[in-house]
Amino acid sequence: MYKAFGIDEDVVSFGAAQERMLRERFEEIDRTAEYNQLKVMRAMQQCRVSEACLSGTTGYGYNDIGRETLEAVYAAAFHAEDALVRPQIACGTHALAVALSGNLRPGDELIYISGGPYDTLEEVIGIRPSRGSLAEYGVTYKQVDLKEDGTFDFEGIRKAITPKTKMCAIQRSKGYQTRPTLSVREIGEAVKCVKSVRSDIIVMVDNCYGEFVETTEPTDVGADMIVGSLIKNPGGGLAPTGGYIAGTKECVENAAVRLTTPGLGKEVGATLSANAPFFQGFFLAPCVTASALKGAVFAASLYENLGFVCTPGKDAARYDIIQAVTLGTPEGVEAFCRGIQKAAPVDSFVTPEPWDMPGYDSQVIMAAGAFVSGSSIELSADAPIRPPYAVYFQGGLTWPSAKLGILMTVQEMKNDGLLRPEDLCVK
Ligand SMILES: *Cc1c(COP(=O)(O)O)cnc(C)c1O
Repeated sequence: MYKAFGIDEDVVSFGAAQERMLRERFEEIDRTAEYNQLKVMRAMQQCRVSEACLSGTTGYGYNDIGRETLEAVYAAAFHAEDALVRPQIACGTHALAVALSGNLRPGDELIYISGGPYDTLEEVIGIRPSRGSLAEYGVTYKQVDLKEDGTFDFEGIRKAITPKTKMCAIQRSKGYQTRPTLSVREIGEAVKCVKSVRSDIIVMVDNCYGEFVETTEPTDVGADMIVGSLIKNPGGGLAPTGGYIAGTKECVENAAVRLTTPGLGKEVGATLSANAPFFQGFFLAPCVTASALKGAVFAASLYENLGFVCTPGKDAARYDIIQAVTLGTPEGVEAFCRGIQKAAPVDSFVTPEPWDMPGYDSQVIMAAGAFVSGSSIELSADAPIRPPYAVYFQGGLTWPSAKLGILMTVQEMKNDGLLRPEDLCVK
């Protein structure tokens, strides 16, 4: 079958050799998936998910048993008091904006203690001046950078907290930075540090790309709120849109009255055609996340053997599903993205090209052939066309499809003369 996709014998056997060496790694990923699968199923059973929960509502969406049960399932699985899980949350950035603006008041101070936030949050907070930002509403901001080695600066955090500090925020995933992703254990230590200064400070964790990678979530180690996107890990590839906020009753209620209105809160919000893909996606999410993780480890293994720098490295512990590969040339980046696109179930016949994307200071190339537009739990890759010419790739709903994608990138590199034949010799 690989031959039918135009993948040469030497590329297939190179991949097979790497795969054999990853057996223990894959077993570890499968054990985490098994644990998380049981965690999700237990939550579904405890919350008595029924067939009636699978359909949706229209209009105001009062008494939407599907919506209410889904939120109870998220809360139970993440060991939180409550959750807000809605198709009306447009994306991860929106979920984070709702969590922030719902819980902060004029005069409050927000401190990011994991360094600067994800790009899109800069305008939400007002780090880059923007219409409607938290800054316009009188919320002040500062940040404590991670230390050189990527760990929390506990002393800096303690010093930064003032009587005005209402919330400390942590971004679990590196996103598109080069720092390491934070583990749940490390996040727990940071929560303890913040709470030791003042126990009423809210700790919010941007949990994007981290869900189900470990057997615990930040809510298990004291975070007041975790926030994420449903077109990443927890949607399992089936949720067609949406975001979630899970945490204390107080934090979730504050977010709910911001998402809808004061007084209405969680009581309204029609789920339209169906709740089923949200339930089913959450059910599949632990195994889908495992497939994406296997793809990431496989890619690191192949590309490290080909002599490229991979972040994280093939043997490093993983706390999110993102894999960066530094290819060193624009040609390498384009070949890689072409390979990912050619392995997609949708739009496999188109060729990704660099373009001037709004908000970026260099051209960006993106490869994705997804069932859900923009979904990054599905196999996808993107890269800014600038040194060091690193490509960021993530996702893969099934392990064989992720594997195909990565083999295809190697084939494209080979076709373009970017690899030497001896590179593909199995060492
Ligand atoms: C993806 C992501 C976001 C924002 O999500 P969108 O759905 O793209 O708005 C925020 N933080 C991190 C770490 C992310 O990876």
